Amino acid sequence: MEFAEGYELLRSGASRFGVEVSEEQWACFYKYMRLLQDWNSRINLTSITEDPGIITKHFVDCLSIVPHIREAAGDSQKVLRLCDIGTGAGFPGIPVKILMPELNVCLVDSLNKRLLFLDEVIRALGLKGIETVHMRAEDFGRDSAFRNKFDFSTARAVAPMNVLLELCTPALKPGGLFLAMKGGRDEGPFAGAAGKLCCKLEKTDRFTIDTAEEDGSFSSSERIIYVFRKAAPTPPAFPRKAGIPSKKPL
Ligand code: SAM
Repeated sequence: MEFAEGYELLRSGASRFGVEVSEEQWACFYKYMRLLQDWNSRINLTSITEDPGIITKHFVDCLSIVPHIREAAGDSQKVLRLCDIGTGAGFPGIPVKILMPELNVCLVDSLNKRLLFLDEVIRALGLKGIETVHMRAEDFGRDSAFRNKFDFSTARAVAPMNVLLELCTPALKPGGLFLAMKGGRDEGPFAGAAGKLCCKLEKTDRFTIDTAEEDGSFSSSERIIYVFRKAAPTPPAFPRKAGIPSKKPL
């Protein structure tokens, strides 16, 4: 896809959330897309390989949380911190960082080869105030360098909500927000897990995005962003040991 055509696709998708993408920011996305395609031929990063799919299903989708972060950040003069748990090939952490360079971003994954790719993306795009952390989310949430330290946490396509809450909220400061990016499917009960982790569902944002399919057609895909607020420090029992949250969800 030509540079200008790709820019138009990203711009029109992001404008549905009121997010503007400058040409300079698109140049970063373009470089990221080419690196993703190049590395994907050697290590498994994504099953979406064509430009229109990457732009709509990854980039536009990930930008949908930007308005929620901006609204919560208000006109704060502090450097706010966001962790992306189970970031994989950098989603949603890298798109959010490109749009909000003022945020400090921590990309967490248990698979080191994906983080090596992300280190290369960070270097090639010249991003500052962003790091990769090779850890299981369960260990990250227990580590004193990360526990209760973040203003925002987020995750996309990592685990069911009752598991995800245990993986993503211990690193939040009390008062911080967890933005869970989900498809339109029913998530099953998670109020019990939220309660045990001292979190409250503050809002649910339901919307559709236009996604490009392999055959060149577009479809409308449902998305939900669940926004939880951490009301108090995570109880010391959580997160439980690596693997337990998914084996025995709260
Ligand atoms: N968030 C990315 C996205 O939306 O494209 C990647 C999704 S991928 C399906 C799930 C990622 O979560 C993988 O990279 C996996 O290694 C990571 N992951 C799963 N469980 C994890 C855990 N307990 N701690 C850290 N990373 C985890």
